[in-house]
Amino acid sequence: MSANDVVQNYIGGEWRTSSADEQLEVTNPATAEVLALVPLSPPAEVDQAAQAAAAAFPRWRRTPAVDRVQPLFKLKDLLEHHFEDLSHTITLENGKTLDESRGEMRRAIENVEVACGIPTLMQGDFSEDIARGIDEYMIRQPVGVCATIAPFNFPAMIPFWFMPYALACGNTYIVKPSERTPLTMEKVLGLLEEAGFPKGVVNSVNGGPDTVNAILDHPLIEGITFVGSTPVARHVYSRAAANGKRVQAQGGAKNPTIVLPDADLGTTTRIVADSVFGNAGQRCLATALTITVGEARHAFAEAMAGIAASRVVGYGLEEGVEMGPVITPQSKARIEGLIEKGAGEGATLLVDGRNTVIRGYEAGNFIRPTILDGLPAEGEIAQTEIFGPVLGMIHADTVDEAIALVNSGRYGNMACVFTTSGAAARQFRYEAEAGNIGINIGVAAPMAFFPFSGWKDSFFGTLHGQGRHAVEFFTQTKVVVERWPPTRRHPS
Ligand code: NAD
Repeated sequence: MSANDVVQNYIGGEWRTSSADEQLEVTNPATAEVLALVPLSPPAEVDQAAQAAAAAFPRWRRTPAVDRVQPLFKLKDLLEHHFEDLSHTITLENGKTLDESRGEMRRAIENVEVACGIPTLMQGDFSEDIARGIDEYMIRQPVGVCATIAPFNFPAMIPFWFMPYALACGNTYIVKPSERTPLTMEKVLGLLEEAGFPKGVVNSVNGGPDTVNAILDHPLIEGITFVGSTPVARHVYSRAAANGKRVQAQGGAKNPTIVLPDADLGTTTRIVADSVFGNAGQRCLATALTITVGEARHAFAEAMAGIAASRVVGYGLEEGVEMGPVITPQSKARIEGLIEKGAGEGATLLVDGRNTVIRGYEAGNFIRPTILDGLPAEGEIAQTEIFGPVLGMIHADTVDEAIALVNSGRYGNMACVFTTSGAAARQFRYEAEAGNIGINIGVAAPMAFFPFSGWKDSFFGTLHGQGRHAVEFFTQTKVVVERWPPTRRHPS
């Protein structure tokens, strides 16, 4: 990789240089080094990818499922073989620590493993004799050409919530990586090619909003999966649906965690701090708000402040670093502005991570962990996704009040509770309005065989990514009612 390298599109089994007029720089967020250039591919190149995928579809869908998963088994081996290199690339372009990149790669591979079970997962249902001599059954068939539009924060993992299932189910596929982190997917596409998927079965087009809109409007693309911020998720959902496509769009988050007085302080603060500050807070399952109940307040705040202040911030490739930079200088400025606003709303800056400079990495987008204590629940910042290493602390007198605060948020990606009371945990699990629930867990990230279940403004659609939901999304059901008149040779 060098500053002059232009990220290639992969279309119809060929690596193609985009004819884009405009290119953006892909930079290392810790060093500001330009790693490569990414093209903003024009609609004509989306069309080429869609045509290639459509041409490959008839043959791929007729390939038996047991054969379609063979390149996925090979892909799993290749991903394991290139595990360290891919993790290194994620850290280079995204900034997270190498261990965090490895964790991301592990979940990506897990989705390949689950999708290898498609011969079973895709099976239909059969009812014999729904009336005398009549049988009825349901089969699953692929949808056609499908596409994924991905965000910057998990350059490898998020396309894998969809791609292995789409391919295993017999669809052909286009991925549009984030223009800020396209390098990992470029390497993955090289591995998909090596794994032996036929030409046109999997394709990539790099670009930004115009490229996305061309995907949303393309008549040959039948299914769209999106992960990113809520305003764009809403746009993708409505535009793709208006064009008659099936669509699932996962959006932003502001995840609350309730801490009850009976929770073990040491374990709770360690786990919650990892949730808040992991991936520099740029995780859709980051805890962004804690709601302490009753006397949990002061000890929890004090312990969290200690952890936040001692977090080792630096270049994610360096040994011992616990938190990397945020993605861009604009993102850093936005986050610092929101911290200021939170303080302006009356919160106390218990730990202030603004104006951070890391020696040797002065050009990096670093913000140290920050805590806004006593954030007003009804204020703007308690409702705004900051997407940085910033914790807002709110306090409640009772469990009921804390759950009501959880449910007052517009998002519903994740909610967690820390307690040793089974009854309180059950009440929380039952009443909390969020699709992913953690009980004494800080990042309730579903394994690949469970759906990634966002609710409310964190999700638009019905079926989510991963597991059986992905299989349902990437297949359409066909119901057959069948009667065979008795033949003369075999009278009934
Ligand atoms: P983003 O919405 O800016 O970009 C996501 C994708 O949309 C990119 O590929 C980008 O090119 C495209 N895009 C951006 N603006 C567009 C526009 N106006 N029209 C059409 N396409 C557009 O998101 P991001 O900054 O890359 O990622 C961070 C966001 O993603 C956060 O809000 C985070 O919570 C969310 N996220 C959600 C989940 C989840 O599972 N719910 C997972 C990861 C990230």
